Amino acid sequence: MSKITIAIDGFSSTGKSTLAKQLAKALKYIYVDTGAMYRAITLYAMRNGYIGKGDEQIDGLLSDLDKIILKFVYNSDKGFAEMYLNGENIEQEIRTLEVSKHVSRIAELKEVRSKLVVLQQEMGKKKGIVMDGRDIGTVVFPDAELKIFMTASPEKRAYRRYKELLDRGDKVTYEEILENVEKRDYIDSHREFSPLKRAKDAIEFDNSDMGLKEQFERILGYALRIIEKQK
Ligand code: C5P
Repeated sequence: MSKITIAIDGFSSTGKSTLAKQLAKALKYIYVDTGAMYRAITLYAMRNGYIGKGDEQIDGLLSDLDKIILKFVYNSDKGFAEMYLNGENIEQEIRTLEVSKHVSRIAELKEVRSKLVVLQQEMGKKKGIVMDGRDIGTVVFPDAELKIFMTASPEKRAYRRYKELLDRGDKVTYEEILENVEKRDYIDSHREFSPLKRAKDAIEFDNSDMGLKEQFERILGYALRIIEKQK
C-alpha cells in the first residue's frame, strides 16, 4: 500500500499529539512530536544558564547547537517514542510549565528552526509519517497529502493542560496555565520565521466541543480515502 505524509498543526493543547498517535497506530506509521524537539533544546538552554536565569545568552546556545544531539527512542511499553537529549531520556522533564514558559522564545530562533527542520525532513523522507507541530504543513512538508489544522478556545486548552499536569503531580494553577497558553499562541503566531498559520490546503478542526473519538474517526477516514486513491 502506498504511504502518505500527514501534517498536523495548530495551537498548543488542542489534542494534536493524541490524534497523531492514534492515526500513527491505526495506519502503522511513525509518529513524530516536533514540539518535543523544541522543548529539548529549551531544556538544554535552561540547564546551561542560557535562558531562564536573568539575562539571556542566546549566542552561547547558538554556538552549542552542533553539540546538541536529539533522538527519539521507541518505548514499547508506552507505545510511542521518547525524546533523548545527548543520550539522556528527558521525556518527563520537557513537559514542565518551566520549559513551556521558555520554549516559544527558543522556537523563534532561525538557527534552531533550521537545525530541527532538517532533522524532521530526514525523518519523513520515506513517508508513512504523522508529524505534529506548528509549521509542518507550511514549511517542513508543504507537499503533505493530508494537512490538519487544529484549534480550540484558550480556556478549553488551558483546562486540558492543567488536568494533565495535575495528574502528573505538578503544582500549577489554572490561571498560570491559561496565561502560558495565551502567551505561546501570541509568540508562535507572530514570530518572524515560520509563524504558526494554517496552510491554505489544511482542513481546520475546532475541537472545543467535538469529542476526540469523533474527530479521530473523521480524520482517519480522510487519510484512508487519500491512500486508496493513490493505489
Ligand atoms: O507542541 P508543543 O506545545 O509541545 O510545542 C512547544 C512549543 O514548541 C510551541 O509552543 C512552539 O513555540 C514550538 N514549536 C514550534 N514549531 C513546531 C513545534 C513546536 O515552534 N513545529
